[in-house]
Amino acid sequence: MARKTILITGAAGFLGSHLCDRFIKEDYKVIAMDNLITGDLRNIEHLFKLENFEFYNHDVSKFVYVPGDLDYILHFASPASPIDYLKIPIQTLKVGSLGTHNLLGLARAKKARMLIASTSEVYGDPNVNPQPEEYWGNVNPVGPRGVYDEAKRFQEAITMAYHTFHGLETRIVRIFNTYGPRMRLNDGRVLPAFIGQALRGEPLTMFGDGSQTRSFCYVDDLIEGIYRLLHSDYAQPMNIGNPDEITIKQFGDEIIKLTGTDQEMISLPLPTDDPKQRRPDITKARAILGWEPKVSRSEGLKITYEYFKSLPEKEIQHKDFTYYNK
Ligand code: UDP
Repeated sequence: MARKTILITGAAGFLGSHLCDRFIKEDYKVIAMDNLITGDLRNIEHLFKLENFEFYNHDVSKFVYVPGDLDYILHFASPASPIDYLKIPIQTLKVGSLGTHNLLGLARAKKARMLIASTSEVYGDPNVNPQPEEYWGNVNPVGPRGVYDEAKRFQEAITMAYHTFHGLETRIVRIFNTYGPRMRLNDGRVLPAFIGQALRGEPLTMFGDGSQTRSFCYVDDLIEGIYRLLHSDYAQPMNIGNPDEITIKQFGDEIIKLTGTDQEMISLPLPTDDPKQRRPDITKARAILGWEPKVSRSEGLKITYEYFKSLPEKEIQHKDFTYYNK
């Protein structure tokens, strides 16, 4: 069988780089694209020597073109942490809306199947727990998270419109909190924040009283779910995440135990519109993809901690949030 070609946007980011690895392993030709605002070329450096890997430094919010045949497009370009979208709100809106439109146009021209990275943020601060795909969400469009949430909601809407109006083959994955090696230590998310603080011997910054919940999925499980969804014939949105729900306070306790830090948690104000609870209902993924997460939090956290520990000391000590290729 001829080798398939896949375009992956956000390829130098956390999830994008793991997707590049997976599709290289499956013997695809991978065309990687990133504008490197939040991505880091070190995540994909090891692939540059391969003949079936190409990289374009490009912002997909502007017209996108790649020569030759294209079988699949995975749109994973977007800032994805609350700190990021506070700092670069307009780019966040543009990559989810204009970027998605450009890539849908490209998919149509190439007759490619397109999968978009949506998010549990489409559910906002949910009134229903766990969240099934049928839940419409509780989103504040003009709050600080609105730039991400609404871009992703628009992204789902335009993707579904291309599917129904143009007959384009599309897939929509709603990604819940995911962690693992290659997360940015300074992206402001709770896991890198807590581990970074433990490594620097600082107190862990718990927002609010820590009673809000999240459900953390290890990256390898997520990538497997996305791989299966892409190859399924299911065009409706699909939750992929780990339903093992935990409060942020319990999570902090786990990090304290894992790292052996002598520090404790301090409480800082809860950010505006911070969801109080989040847990995926994965009934559909189980039934349609035969997928469920395999890696426990204790296993996944150990691997992730080893990764952060192995970073250069200078990076571990660098506390400011980072956005550019350092
Ligand atoms: N959080 C925290 N301390 C931090 C960073 C985040 O307590 O230093 C909390 C945050 O308020 C939220 C949860 O951890 O309730 C997850 O935050 P994150 O930014 O990782 O992702 P979110 O799920 O909110 O998009």
